[in-house]
Amino acid sequence: MSHVNTDVLIIGAGPSGCVSAAYLHRQGINVKVVEKSQFPRFVIGESLLPRCMDHFQEVGLLDCLKAEGFEVKPGARFLRDDIVCHFDFSKKHTDGWDWTWQVPRADFDNALAQELIKKGVDIAFQHEVVDVVFNDDGSSQTTIKNAEGEAYQVNAKFIVDSSGYGRVLPRLLGLDKPSSMPEHSSIFTHVKDLNRPEGKEGTMITFDVLDKDTWFWVIPFSNGITSLGFVGKNEFIDSFEGTTTERMKQMIETSEYYKKRFSGLDFEFDPICIRNYSKAVTKFYGNGFVLTGNSAEFLDPVFSSGVTFATESALCSAKLIAKQLQGETVDWEKEYADYITYGVDVFRTYVEEWYTGNLQTLFFHRPENPDIKKQICAVLAGYVWDKTNPFVRKHKRIVANLAHLINMEKEQANS
Ligand code: FAD
Repeated sequence: MSHVNTDVLIIGAGPSGCVSAAYLHRQGINVKVVEKSQFPRFVIGESLLPRCMDHFQEVGLLDCLKAEGFEVKPGARFLRDDIVCHFDFSKKHTDGWDWTWQVPRADFDNALAQELIKKGVDIAFQHEVVDVVFNDDGSSQTTIKNAEGEAYQVNAKFIVDSSGYGRVLPRLLGLDKPSSMPEHSSIFTHVKDLNRPEGKEGTMITFDVLDKDTWFWVIPFSNGITSLGFVGKNEFIDSFEGTTTERMKQMIETSEYYKKRFSGLDFEFDPICIRNYSKAVTKFYGNGFVLTGNSAEFLDPVFSSGVTFATESALCSAKLIAKQLQGETVDWEKEYADYITYGVDVFRTYVEEWYTGNLQTLFFHRPENPDIKKQICAVLAGYVWDKTNPFVRKHKRIVANLAHLINMEKEQANS
């Protein structure tokens, strides 16, 4: 079998793999990216958070994205019955980006990958990792199959697994563990948004809350296409009959707010259903490898944290890999696992409290408290490491406690 040598092998050219490759390449470290599919390819995860703009900027990938003219996302809207909760990223507790994008991922990921190729990064498309063997010193031999089905070997000093739902190393090394999140599923597609209203109403990203456990996303893109997706318990998805197209058409009728806009539109592709989408692993790193992005953990789409976590973990680990390859000692537990776990745990609380209904109580309580809103907005913008924000620092208690107070006030008012 033929072989090639590299310092760092990166598995997957999604946002996580691209940010990792961009940082390491800038440091003069030899990287090889292997990507199973041919780009552009579809992947879900279209609503970004302001925090990830910091990552793209730091690794020199922001300008290529700006050139694509993606739809700007200045905030997010949540609807329940007749109440609207609108977060404006320019009104948030933490300093940072006050906008981001809502993107068709095929174009977005392709723009990142093409920019990396322009910068001289070696990306092999339609090359799939099928096996890996680690040596005691952390170096590895990875077996890869190219588009013709021929196998070759990559010898690397370090591996970054950014394979998303491919979950290459969790599968090969037995690192998967059941997620602590409730078992939820999603069904989604794209439509040509022929009835899109003029102005903000047409382009605003919206989460239409159908009930405590079930919600509908509407993510308009600048190319006239809109992404539609339903998320709920498995029983919700299973309560509709027929093909995914038939089921999705019935689901659209359940949205009082949107049924007029989207009823009767043809889907751009048969709706895709992902069951039990939450994923977790027993560890985020090991001798000679690190897991980043979805390959490490995925919680839930409700706060659009997936891509931001993918780029945060990619950038953080790339810095540590560079240090290690330069001969410095890295404390992977403290500098990577603990850091990433902190942010993931903040989001975990918000996702859990969304589905307990406590966070929804805060979102839809009137009148709104502007200070609390700014603090929650900073979390929803992805600034989940800012401990000056009480909604970060005290995340485990604050949402539940406030919801409890609101519910007590309501009970007293009704008695
Ligand atoms: P990916 O973007 O999945 O990239 C991984 C790459 O690895 C792929 O290109 C794949 O082809 C490649 N690969 C896989 N196996 C191999 C192999 N064996 N060899 C070589 N290459 C391989 N996130 C958001 O931020 N916003 C959202 O609105 C959002 N909505 C979501 C909705 C749903 C229903 C779900 C399930 C997820 C959503 N996410 C969202 C999460 C988002 O999809 C991921 O967090 C994000 O794509 C992770 O990026 P990544 O770079 O880790 O992986």
